Amino acid sequence: MKDLPVSDRKLALPRPLNLIGNDFVPAASGAEMDVLSPIDGLPFARIADSDAADIDAAVAAARHAFDAGEWGRLPAMERGRLMLTLSALILEHAEDLAQLESADNGKPIVQARADMQVAARYFEFYGGAADKVHGEVIPFMAGYNVEMRREPHGVTGHIIPWNYPAQMLGRSVAPALAMGNATVLKPAEDACLSALRIGELAVQAGFPPGALNIVTGRGETAGKALSEHRGIDFMSFTGSPEVGVMIQIAAARNFIGCTLELGGKSPQVIFEDADLDAAIPTVVKALIQNGGQTCSAGSRALIQRSIYDRVAADLTARFKEIAASPSGEDAVLGPLISARQKRRVEGYIDAADAPLLGRGQIRADAPKAGFYVAPALFGPCDPASRIAQEEVFGPVLTLIPFDDEADAIRIANGTEYGLVAGVWTRDGARQQRMAKALRCGQVFINGYGAGGGVELPFGGIRKSGHGREKGFAALLEFSHIKTVVNNHG
Ligand code: NAD
Repeated sequence: MKDLPVSDRKLALPRPLNLIGNDFVPAASGAEMDVLSPIDGLPFARIADSDAADIDAAVAAARHAFDAGEWGRLPAMERGRLMLTLSALILEHAEDLAQLESADNGKPIVQARADMQVAARYFEFYGGAADKVHGEVIPFMAGYNVEMRREPHGVTGHIIPWNYPAQMLGRSVAPALAMGNATVLKPAEDACLSALRIGELAVQAGFPPGALNIVTGRGETAGKALSEHRGIDFMSFTGSPEVGVMIQIAAARNFIGCTLELGGKSPQVIFEDADLDAAIPTVVKALIQNGGQTCSAGSRALIQRSIYDRVAADLTARFKEIAASPSGEDAVLGPLISARQKRRVEGYIDAADAPLLGRGQIRADAPKAGFYVAPALFGPCDPASRIAQEEVFGPVLTLIPFDDEADAIRIANGTEYGLVAGVWTRDGARQQRMAKALRCGQVFINGYGAGGGVELPFGGIRKSGHGREKGFAALLEFSHIKTVVNNHG
């Protein structure tokens, strides 16, 4: 064990324990695993390497909390208050959490700080919403009173990725808790320390036992056991399409619903009348943010042919300036999450079937064993090429020229994904036409907020998944309609 060079603060590392029924317990098998820091590739913490027995215990704790425990009896207002308390505690500990997240995930500290604000905001938004989801009264035959109520599912399972561990926890778990579900979270083995700290804060906030359970471990053991568990009433998954398919099949076998958030190949469409001073830096930021490891990263820039050379030259100059570096106050691009992810991204760069316009750098002080990748810009790319079709999940941007609006729509919609799109044009009518024509779950016009906006429903279609997170829409996912027909005549 060692202290990381990320800050002079001493990281308060969580112990290698699961949170089950408000107790911090080791894996039943006693197994633990190392956590590597992407900054230098060295182990710096340990987590419980859990399996099906631990998932069983966590689901049982959640079931008890929902059916017989205090959580199930709490009025919505009280649930909301607990969540607001947790939100305040996350803010109170935001700097320590951010340092931990940055060490665990490798992301620049500035990004990690922003993430903690968003994590707190999820509990604020959904804490405030907990007592504001109302039913309806439906007019029916004489002598009947018909109510449509929104009921929690019961026990909800949550499997989240490593790219925004604290944010993803808030995004997935907060709306489920607001609706009164009891939750079991399996964070990603590559980065889950902030989730464990937030679990501690939830206990401190006064969450009753079993409302929030956190079990760490590998996907193929703990994750699989959770997704297949017969005691789960609904499943929320964020991660790769390959695992998403397995989650969907497991949910089908258990006859339960699920939401899948599986990433994308999101286009940024830049028309010749766009405000390029706004568009170009935003395109760079929306790709480089979090090392390109963002499901909604704008990883394809579609540029109208009349301005293509100018925009490509500007983007190339900017890309060459970007340097991957260990997390410091000035870092904009950190290492990638793991050696595996670095190999994967470099594999895409080496095999790219398009001209390389430029690479950024890796700063000299980046430890050699860290997982750094210099950003890469490719163009002009054939829209059908592999580099323009597949999600790289790294600092790689592909430029694709287009002729006119119809061509832009065809290319933008021409991948298997459909998560987010950006449109840059001053033409109001075109803005409306594009918003309608783009096949995806979220469209930004003259802006692009990769992952931004807790209030804004978010999710995809096709290979990007289904179901909506964020905003009020998520509350509907984490509840079902019960129609109560009362014949009082
Ligand atoms: P992954 O899908 O393997 O992991 C995501 C989560 O699922 C983790 O918690 C993991 O432990 C769990 N998991 C893995 N296998 C499982 C299984 N068989 N059953 C149940 N749970 C399981 O993603 P990854 O390998 O970390 O990343 C691979 C690719 O996935 C990335 O390159 C990227 O394209 C995509 N990805 C997308 C997002 C997103 O936000 N949409 C996030 C991470 C990764």
